[in-house]
Amino acid sequence: MDPTRFPQLHVSRHPLVEHKLAKLRDRRTEPKKFRELVRELSWLLGYEAMADLTTQPITIETPLEPMAGAELAPKVGLVPVLRAGLGMVDAMLELMPSAEVWHIGLYRDERTLKPVEYYNKLPDAATVQVCLILDPMLATGGSSSATVDILKAWGAVRIKQVSLIAAPEGVATLSAAHPDVDIHVAAVDRALNERGYIVPGLGDAGDRQFGTFAGPSSEPGHDPADETAEVVRRLQRNLAEEP
Ligand code: URA
Repeated sequence: MDPTRFPQLHVSRHPLVEHKLAKLRDRRTEPKKFRELVRELSWLLGYEAMADLTTQPITIETPLEPMAGAELAPKVGLVPVLRAGLGMVDAMLELMPSAEVWHIGLYRDERTLKPVEYYNKLPDAATVQVCLILDPMLATGGSSSATVDILKAWGAVRIKQVSLIAAPEGVATLSAAHPDVDIHVAAVDRALNERGYIVPGLGDAGDRQFGTFAGPSSEPGHDPADETAEVVRRLQRNLAEEP
């Protein structure tokens, strides 16, 4: 994928990010280490994602004399997409202890790959100006686009997506639906596979963080892979057709 097609896409080039991402992807990395790496990568990506936040002047006093300082101007909201996004919250709160955390529960229907909302307790009016959507994997872009829809309707002025790995299809879908949303990632991988997983990717980011490796639930008489593969093919056609 040519990243210049997507001006709002920011792929980190930091060597620490590359180093930690390789460890994260490794199938031998156990959940404890995996969680640590998600946290460390979130810290590094969060630092980069917040580089353009505005500040306002304040006066402070050092032990020696008064001086002009700065504080963050916008109120920031962290929006982890449940459940995999939870592992990114602590690192972001270390960077911005006063950020608010608003949870949005979306799960991906494994057949249609469409997001299904199951938890949303946002108050009527937005309480923050900048929202950072936290989701380790930007796969189809469906959950992200749906989350941005929710946050825009809520009144968020500026929205950024922070993910560890993106698929080209996900970047294209989110960018087409919301060209104003910045996308910060550690890597853009080759593609989505027919089951909607990012390849080479890292597998299921939720399962790998939380140690839940029971496998997908199956429905007798129905092969969800057929429908999922068709959705992925459509996303791939969209990506190829975009200017
Ligand atoms: N969600 C994941 O956890 N992994 C993928 O590859 C795609 C979506």
